[in-house]
Order: sequence, then structure tokens, then C-alpha cells
Amino acid sequence: MASQTGDIVQQSLDTLMEEPSFLPQVQEEQRKQVFQSLAAILSTPNKINKAFLRVALCDGKVLRIPAFRVQHNDTLGPYKGGIRFHESVNEDEVINLAALMTLKNALHDVPFGGGKGGVVLNPRSYPEKDLYQICKKYVQYFTDVLGPDKDIPAPDVGTSEREMDWMMAEYKSIHPGKPYLGSFTGKSVVSGGSLGRREATGKGVYFTFRYLLHDFIKDNQSWLSSGDNVFAHTALDHMDKHLTIAVQGFGNVGSVAALEAYKCSFLHNKVVAVSDRNVTLYSEEGLDIPSLIDYISSHRGDLPTTDEQLQALGISAVIKSREEVLTMDVDVLILAALEDQLHKDNADQVKARIIVEGANAPITGEADQLLSKKGVVIIPDILANAGGVIVSYFEWLQDRETIFYMEDEVYKQLFAKMQKTMVSILPAYFADPLPLRQNCYVHAVRKLSASLYRQGKLY
Ligand code: NAD
Repeated sequence: MASQTGDIVQQSLDTLMEEPSFLPQVQEEQRKQVFQSLAAILSTPNKINKAFLRVALCDGKVLRIPAFRVQHNDTLGPYKGGIRFHESVNEDEVINLAALMTLKNALHDVPFGGGKGGVVLNPRSYPEKDLYQICKKYVQYFTDVLGPDKDIPAPDVGTSEREMDWMMAEYKSIHPGKPYLGSFTGKSVVSGGSLGRREATGKGVYFTFRYLLHDFIKDNQSWLSSGDNVFAHTALDHMDKHLTIAVQGFGNVGSVAALEAYKCSFLHNKVVAVSDRNVTLYSEEGLDIPSLIDYISSHRGDLPTTDEQLQALGISAVIKSREEVLTMDVDVLILAALEDQLHKDNADQVKARIIVEGANAPITGEADQLLSKKGVVIIPDILANAGGVIVSYFEWLQDRETIFYMEDEVYKQLFAKMQKTMVSILPAYFADPLPLRQNCYVHAVRKLSASLYRQGKLY
């Protein structure tokens, strides 16, 4: 497990070890042993599946493409986690992302374990037919470890419902007569996907921000204003102000989170900057997010990069470099691109007072400490970006029952589940000095540890 996640899991175990009400039946030497066992189990994946996919491309070449499926922990249910297609995918990254999924599912009471997949390629460099072959090969190579009750992948960076449909179809043809609908989530609705799944992560990111910064704070204003929690005071300071928001990454997560902010009528927020792999677009008056979403849907996901393209769209914005989004003078920064975007070399230039992690692990451990010292409030990934896996769980349930929910019902259940998590952690968070990220980890590790103990895995 990469150091930041591993360190916080260890710190969480240390906190729980000192908590007398946690596993009170385990005392002294046995308690030490139990916590050592927990550290060993949670810091290593159960299984790392690795392959070199042999793919015959349309142009006649045969490639060997490295691919992974890491199964971190299945204490709470079948492994669950996305498949990433990106040229920077590597084994350590996949292990770390799989561990995050274990924690995220535990935090939100989703009955799944943690897994993650990756293929080392730039999907933009391949025509659709080659990507189809690559998806089929992925399922063929890992077919024994996948399945609706074993390990259920979903989309991640570089994959979408198209890839999930192809993969589910391949799984179905390899396992004739077996249940197959729930083998992959994030599918298109015609292939058994759930309404609302595509929007779920971005909607959940914005909901978490809004609930924490507004609804919860407003409801608990009197006791929060008397305490010394930095988050509470930052939120109280910002409550009735006009907030400016910058969003890094304008893909599945970032574009939907930006649209939610754009549409939200009872918070005064304005999305003044969005960015992608090429550019940052900035407008002091606020960007026209629906038009930009229309634009990316017909331009392979990319934002406009020239003044001519912006003019043709009728959008007034200044074009800046892709990194500039991170250090803009805004109130809120939503990170929705990739890992490690804020690190020790740029963290001290961040001006936003609130950061929301839509992406997984977008802040390195060093940057996290630097920003926290500066009093920046960070809403962590495992809390904020769980909308995707929560609605994946709903999709899996719908696929089992072949009964499908209305879109409004999906969002209602999604927000209720995310709110339930926040209500269960926030009182403890506002009452003690642990940062929010660590508070979430303690909650998740508590649940995993209690289950491991009760399942007899610690002796
Ligand atoms: P996506 O591929 O749809 O979008 C990624 C966006 O980031 C694109 O706009 C891309 O241009 C941009 N980008 C890529 N490299 C960049 C760079 N160096 N600088 C700035 N922008 C860059 O991916 P997504 O599904 O939106 O996922 C984004 C993040 O959210 C990932 O960390 C992913 O693991 C995480 N996440 C996604 C989901 C989901 O349901 N899609 C769920 C949970 C977490």
C-alpha cells in the first residue's frame, strides 16, 4: 500500500487500540497481537493478478499490453473497483487504489470489498475496434477471478459505459447460462446499467461539499461556532458569501460536479475555472458549464483550446495553462483529474481555503500536511467521491432482481446514504482534533477490524 494510505491506516489502528470501548474483550498481550494482525491484513492486498494481454490490432501488429486486477480485501463482500486505461498505470498505483476502495466501501457501509484494475495504454491512441479487442482480452485473462459474486469492475479514468458493456458481453459468452448482468457496473442503461450511474460520482462530490459546508453547519451553527474546529470556522465564514469554484478535470466526475455547482440555486457559487489535460479556462463572471459539456461530448472529451473555438461556442473565457487551475485565487478547488496533483512543490501556492477530492488520492501525503497546517479544509476522497460505488451497488442490486429504479429514486437513495455516513462521522470529527481524512479512516478501519475479528480472522 502506498505510504499515505498505509500511514493513515496505521494511525487509525493506533487510535482504535487506545479506545477502550473498541473490542473491550481483547486486552493486554492479545490486544497487541490483534492490532498487529489487523495492520498486516489491511496493509497488503489479498491478491495481485497480472497479465500481458496479447492483442492483435487492426493494423496487423500484435501487442503485449500490461494489465492488472488487484483484489485488496473482501471482508465486507465481493471485490469492487474501477478499471483504468492510462499510460501511467502501474502496480503500486493499482494496489493503492484497491486499498482505497476497501476503505471507501467500509466507510459508506457498502457491502463490497476493495479491488482495482488497470491497463497500461493511452486509449486515445487506439481506434474503437482495437479497444474492443483489448476489453475482451482483459476479461478473458482475468475471467476466473471476476464475476457478480467475486469481483465486480466499473469504469475509471479512460473507461466508460462502452467498455463495461463490451466486458460484460464477453463475460456472458465465457460463462453461458450463469448470471452475468451484475458482473460489471457502470454499464449503459440498455445493457442493464442504472439510471444515474454516470452522474453519481460528480453529484455525490457536490452533495458532500454542499452538505458539509452548508446544511450540516447551518443546522449545528450554535455549538459549532463556540468550538475551535478549523473546518467549522471556515464553513461559517463562507456560509452566506458568494463562493468561487475551480474544477481540475472536466471528465465524468469534474464536469458533473461543475454542473451541479452551476445549477445549485440556494448556494451562491460560481464556477470560474475548469481544466483538463490540455488547458484551464477562466472567467471571472462564471463559465457556461452546460455549453462546455455539450462541447466535450462531441470533441472526444476535450475542452476548447483556442479563442476561435470559444468564440464559435459563444463563451467568453481566458485560456490558461492546465496547471494554473490549481493555484487560482478561488474559495473552493475541486480536484477531479488524477493522483498526486498537489504535491510538496506546488501546495504552498494553493489559494483555495476548501479543497474537495473528487479524484482518488489527488494530494500527496506531504502536500496534505502542508495544506492542513495552512488551515486549508480538505474533504477527502473516500468521503466525497463514493457516489459512483454507491450507485454501482444499486446497479448490482437491480441487476440481481431485474427490477430497475427511476432516476429520481437513485439520487434520493444516493444522497440519503452519503448523508447517513456524514451524520455518523461528523459529531466525532467536530468534537476531536483529528483531521477529517483521518476521522473517515478511523470509521472505516473500525468497521473492517470489527468484522475481521468477528469472522475469526485475527487468531
Ligand atoms: P475521466 O477520464 O472521465 O476524466 C478525467 C479528466 O481529467 C479529463 O478531463 C482529463 O482531460 C483530465 N486530465 C487528465 N490528465 C490531466 C492532467 N494532467 N491535468 C489536468 N487534467 C487532466 O475520469 P473520471 O472518471 O472523471 O475520473 C477522475 C478521477 O475521479 C479519477 O481519479 C478517478 O479514479 C476518480 N473517480 C472516478 C469515479 C467515476 O465514477 N468515474 C469514481 C470515483 C473516483
